Amino acid sequence: MTIEIPSAPAALLRRLNEAGHEAYVVGGCVRDALMGSTPHDWDICTDARPEQVIRIFSDRPVAKTGLQHGTVMIIDGGEGYEITTFRTEGSYSDHRHPDRVQFVSNLREDLARRDFTINAMAYHPDRGVIDCFGGREDLKAGVVRCVGDPNERFREDGLRILRALRFAARFGFRLEEETGRAMHENRALLDEIAAERIFAELKGFLVGQGVRSMLLEYRDLMAQILPPLSRMFDFEQRNPHHCYDVWRHTVCAVENAPPTEVLRLTMLFHDCGKPDCWSRDDKGTDHFYDHAKRSIELTGEMLNQLRCDNRLKEQILHQVRWHDLPLPQDEREGRRFLRRMGDEGALWSLDVHRADAMAQAPQFLPEKLERIALAEQIIHKLLEEHACVTLRDLSVKGRDLMELGYTPGPEMGRALNRLLELVVEGECPNEREALLDRAKK
Ligand code: ATP
Ligand code: MG
Repeated sequence: MTIEIPSAPAALLRRLNEAGHEAYVVGGCVRDALMGSTPHDWDICTDARPEQVIRIFSDRPVAKTGLQHGTVMIIDGGEGYEITTFRTEGSYSDHRHPDRVQFVSNLREDLARRDFTINAMAYHPDRGVIDCFGGREDLKAGVVRCVGDPNERFREDGLRILRALRFAARFGFRLEEETGRAMHENRALLDEIAAERIFAELKGFLVGQGVRSMLLEYRDLMAQILPPLSRMFDFEQRNPHHCYDVWRHTVCAVENAPPTEVLRLTMLFHDCGKPDCWSRDDKGTDHFYDHAKRSIELTGEMLNQLRCDNRLKEQILHQVRWHDLPLPQDEREGRRFLRRMGDEGALWSLDVHRADAMAQAPQFLPEKLERIALAEQIIHKLLEEHACVTLRDLSVKGRDLMELGYTPGPEMGRALNRLLELVVEGECPNEREALLDRAKK
């Protein structure tokens, strides 16, 4: 099996070899290449010590931020290539950071400290694939398996529990049995991991193709990192529109959303307020009035806990807030919808509605999909026409109103918004003269 290494990393390998060192591409790039996909970065490992690497590439720009882990980054053609000295990681008294890294002289020891067998392979153009732990077999079988004893490996670094979940979801793999069991058993270790790192893994996990079965099988891990999610587990909803409990519905909706962070996170959270809003009427039907409001409260808390950046948080909260908003079925409703949701938000909202509908009772699905398709048509037409739905689009600006005697301030803002509303409602064309006429009244 040969792997086609691009010329830049291939040249780095050659240079290290010519200087008398062992050097391999290693980890994710070997895994991805063996799976037939294009690696997004090429990591190199070598027996050369960091100071030797720096000397060998003294004619190149070098970034030394990873030096204490034995990593030197060589910049080539605007790309950074990490060259890491063979190492082990000593002990992990805090389950997060190795107390010290120790350089070793052989590749096998370096591969042994890596997390999963599929990530623990190296490749050399002359020597081929170096696979000491059965990584190729696990790749073929679609299995994520720890290198060594899973309990030990997770105790060394709890983040690996979420990494396992992420790789399994990304490739549609399953967890090897012992590894899977150790993930459940060691879940409390996740409490010690920094929120940013948890969130990064969670996002990577959610956009994976195999997220559905992982969310069902490993929901205890989700509850560990985000306790409010557990309220949804097995929460029954007796309602003709639903065929699943709240968590199963959620999981199905996540799977049916396009794989972007905004949409997958939105679906994960959209119904989390339901258990707090439950009521059952005298016919025995369950209702969850105003649950979107409760969902955004809980979602906001969870996203804060995860240290989510404000932009992404606002985008998600907006989608969660309006996930039940009826979709537009004519152009006037379409303009109102665009005004409320924004261009990008409106398009996302269509995906949210579709994902939500597909996770509900199948009997109403065709009807719901038809409504969504019509809304989609309307939204696309309005976007193409650059329909006026914001003050920016309005043909009359503040200075036009000043000429009519308005003074800048809240009153003028109200007047502009009133004009926008007339246009959105189709009561006045977005034309200067007509709008000024209205403003005079
Ligand atoms: P991706 O495509 O997501 O970048 P990757 O396999 O390259 O996948 P990285 O996080 O970039 O993953 O790490 C590179 C390599 O370093 C991994 O393939 C693995 O061998 C090793 N590694 C990374 N994180 C850990 C960890 N927490 N514990 C053990 N080994 C790790
Ligand atoms: Mg990587």
